Amino acid sequence: MAANSPFVIAGAGLAGAKAAEALREEGFDGPVVLVGDEQERPYERPPLSKDYLQGSSPREDVFVHPGGWYEEHGVDLRLGVPVTGIDPGGRSVRLADGSAFAYEKLLLATGSSPRRLPVAGENLDGVHYLRSLADSDTLKETFAAASRIVVIGGGWIGLETTAAAREAGVEVTLLEAGELPLVGVLGREAAQVFAGLHTAHGVDLRCGTHVTEITGARGRVDGVLLDGGERIDADAVVIGVGITPNTRLASDAGLEVGNGVRVDSALRTSDPGIWAAGDVANAFHPLLGRHIRVEHWANALNQPAAAARSMLGGDVSYDRLPYFFTDQYDLGMEYTGHVERGGYDRVVFRGSTDDREFVAFWLSERRVLAGMNVNVWDVTGPVRTLITSGLPVDEGRLGDVGVPLTEVFAGG
Ligand SMILES: Cc1cc2nc3c(=O)[nH]c(=O)nc-3n(C[C@H](O)[C@H](O)[C@H](O)COP(=O)(O)OP(=O)(O)OC[C@H]3O[C@@H](n4cnc5c(N)ncnc54)[C@H](O)[C@@H]3O)c2cc1C
Repeated sequence: MAANSPFVIAGAGLAGAKAAEALREEGFDGPVVLVGDEQERPYERPPLSKDYLQGSSPREDVFVHPGGWYEEHGVDLRLGVPVTGIDPGGRSVRLADGSAFAYEKLLLATGSSPRRLPVAGENLDGVHYLRSLADSDTLKETFAAASRIVVIGGGWIGLETTAAAREAGVEVTLLEAGELPLVGVLGREAAQVFAGLHTAHGVDLRCGTHVTEITGARGRVDGVLLDGGERIDADAVVIGVGITPNTRLASDAGLEVGNGVRVDSALRTSDPGIWAAGDVANAFHPLLGRHIRVEHWANALNQPAAAARSMLGGDVSYDRLPYFFTDQYDLGMEYTGHVERGGYDRVVFRGSTDDREFVAFWLSERRVLAGMNVNVWDVTGPVRTLITSGLPVDEGRLGDVGVPLTEVFAGG
């Protein structure tokens, strides 16, 4: 390691940008190099399937920092150049432009990429994935020109894209392999709310269906074939079937990898000079007592500050509860907490699911694991307290909108 080698951040997304910011806020005045393979300076992705895609917010609003911020803060931002390799023993990184340099500490903030759908026709023109600003620009143009599209995958990206397309006046057939969209993350009780929301907005929702082929003529998509033999015509197809963490750098470097880059609660990888944060990090969560990888904005916003403190030698244990939000049509939602698939025994609704104005709580043995507020605001503080207290609640009081959330504990 050379004297005064930089702190290097691989990946210039939200997590990378927030890590650079946090290093400076912590008073670190040594060199910081932020390397990204995209051409754009770091930007936030949530608007790409919501207001930016719908044309209601300007491009400038998506960026994490103003253009001059990096230079002003002495952050050497290198764009359009992937990090191609890490030598943990020699503490150095290689970039695709052939350069190589030493690092003092390295943060992996390489995020994730859309999972490809392995069916024939996936490469036709008019078949889209949504991850980057350029993808969102292309979709916006597509919605302006298309009259009917097929969206494959009823996860968050698929649903938000569907809502944006409907708002643009496009007919949408939404294909979901499972019993309901989001059933894996929310369970059947709450997933029904989202299915109802989309059918109420005129979406042709097909569940339990698999696409066997994306069809086209002269290189351009014209529809999809379903496993039942049905064909659905489409001017464009959007695929949203999940993401995979970008772990190749880490695994090539011999770091411990498993559902992301494995890190401890201080965001340290299995190598003492390398940390990870954001979508790519599978971090030990002290409150939950296990590793979790969170693919959400708030994690990429907050975890890097903890990683930066840890890189600077601070005593860090990142224990923030996962938090997620979505906006679809006139529905706004926040979700706090974490439930393993099927890891709850009861869902309690507080408010009206018919009016789509409620808080849902996932419970296990009368303890709240997670809460989701739908068109109800300013409750994430009390919801977080219910979860972190670990105390049993009175389910009747929890479901009663007349009882304050601070007074729902059993025997309270
Ligand atoms: C369309 C869309 C909408 C979303 N909406 C929501 C939402 O409503 N709510 C919510 O909570 N979350 C949402 N998310 C998720 C949220 O945006 C992500 O959790 C967040 O972007 C993760 O940030 P990150 O910096 O960890 O990773 P990324 O944003 O993936 O950034 C990583 C960066 O590293 C780059 N990179 C990868 N490998 C290399 C390499 N070898 N060298 C250099 N650079 C590299 C990548 O190209 C990328 O630019 C949404 C995501 C998308 C795509």
